[in-house]
Amino acid sequence: MSAVREPSPASPARPEPRPGVLAIEAYVPGKSHAPGVEKVYKLSSNETPMGPSAKAVAAFQEAGRRLEDYPDGAARVLREAIAKANGLDPARIICGAGSDEILNLVAHAYLGPGDEAVFCEHGFLVYRIATLAAGGTPVVAKERNLTADVDAMLACVSPRTKVVFLANPNNPTGTYLPFDEVRRLHAGLPPHVLLVLDAAYAEYVRRNDYETGLELALTADNVLMARTFSKIHGLAALRIGWAVGPAHVIDAMNRIRGPFNMNAPALLAGAAAIADAAHVEKSVAHNEAWLPWLTAEIEKLGLKVTPSVANFVLIHFPKEAGRTAKEADAFLLKRGLVLRQVGAYGLPDSLRMTVGSEEANRLAVAALADFMAGKTAGKTADPAP
Ligand SMILES: *Cc1c(COP(=O)(O)O)cnc(C)c1O
Repeated sequence: MSAVREPSPASPARPEPRPGVLAIEAYVPGKSHAPGVEKVYKLSSNETPMGPSAKAVAAFQEAGRRLEDYPDGAARVLREAIAKANGLDPARIICGAGSDEILNLVAHAYLGPGDEAVFCEHGFLVYRIATLAAGGTPVVAKERNLTADVDAMLACVSPRTKVVFLANPNNPTGTYLPFDEVRRLHAGLPPHVLLVLDAAYAEYVRRNDYETGLELALTADNVLMARTFSKIHGLAALRIGWAVGPAHVIDAMNRIRGPFNMNAPALLAGAAAIADAAHVEKSVAHNEAWLPWLTAEIEKLGLKVTPSVANFVLIHFPKEAGRTAKEADAFLLKRGLVLRQVGAYGLPDSLRMTVGSEEANRLAVAALADFMAGKTAGKTADPAP
């Protein structure tokens, strides 16, 4: 007979998570509702106004006919489609439920108590959460002009550093590092530090000095490049991410991922999406037209916009009462325009706005003009012709 064990004096009265877990500030996604407004324009999560490829939607529907079957745990069709589109060996690719899962797999494979991960001051919040969840310690590098600063990042590297996360371009700033700077960052890292290049917005970038890091991930022993289907491919709902890197890193991540981490509709829709280059081109062209338009029109209103190479802009508001970012957010919300507050990123005076449809973009600029002119939100402006 088993004896009833008296709790030792040190034992807590209920299960307690590992040290550090309750210190994590949970990720707060962008709002998706505007209460009491008929038509909502969601510009808070960098989703594409072009939607997914029709071929991806058809593949998704087809997958719905066989929901009783387990998905392929090796994600073969998707890895092969990604490999074909990028000229890669499928064996060097791992897929995840969003790049979120990829980033968490990295953290859980390479970080533990006492280990440090370096990322930027206004870097993507998932780096902090993944690091803390693995028991590691975040080390934050200062930025310059809301842009990653390679010298500051290298100065943060210590013997305890195991991972460096860099979003290029970064969210929520929209800024990027030219590839010679990424190379300089890599060259300055000790060989045991894993450099994770998160190129979630790569397809949108139109700069000659930009590279995703794909080649570095294929040639270096300590570089992983992560990508997502949530942005340009318009499949955020299906949670599809992937990464390419050295065989030993992919092997380590494969050992700790769930055996069926990718669902079947995601595998098929993702494979169809990445093969539809025409749809991607259309989405790039839309962004190429509206990103500069939004930037210029918003700046005409006297607001500062950080130059962005992605599918969103970071708008900076004055601190004076009646003109603040929080007040602008509330004003726009009344007109159904849902933007993103970025106080959690250390940017309390800014709002992030996704490049939306033509209608949404025009309404947003008209609403910002009324806000800056001190008008009330109630009177909806007609979109400019
Ligand atoms: C949106 C985004 C991702 C993609 O996340 P998913 O989990 O794939 O939806 C990754 N990194 C950055 C910097 C992002 O902004």
